Amino acid sequence: MTKLDKRTERLTRALRNAGVRITRQRAALLHVIAQADDHPEAVELHRRAEIDVPGISLSTVYRTLTALEAQGVIHRHQFEGAPARFEHAATEHHDHMIDVDTGDVIEFRSDRIERMQAEIAAEMGYEIVHHRLELYVQKKKADGA
Ligand SMILES: [Zn+2]
Repeated sequence: MTKLDKRTERLTRALRNAGVRITRQRAALLHVIAQADDHPEAVELHRRAEIDVPGISLSTVYRTLTALEAQGVIHRHQFEGAPARFEHAATEHHDHMIDVDTGDVIEFRSDRIERMQAEIAAEMGYEIVHHRLELYVQKKKADGA
């Protein structure tokens, strides 16, 4: 089973568990969501789904995303100054940088940061249950420019 098939199956099962009937439109939408690896917005997912199922409504996309999020299979990111973006919950833990000029979302993971966060929380008598870290960044200008 490919990664894509697994994702599609996970999403389909989650939507069924949410009590949503899997129509042909929704099946096509789930396929589009399964293929996404780039933190797309709902509007972008709608645009992609429309290629396979012309006439699919934006509200179908929003409702489906909300149901999938409630089932814990996708994460919603509310980055500053942008509509919500979505990604698969089953990816390895990582944090995000958001390029404030282009809107690009860059994934990163730093063991140093992970360790420091745990230490800081422990010093204050806590253990981390979950965290999200967002860095708002801008490309460095070339030196001497
Ligand atoms: Zn990500």
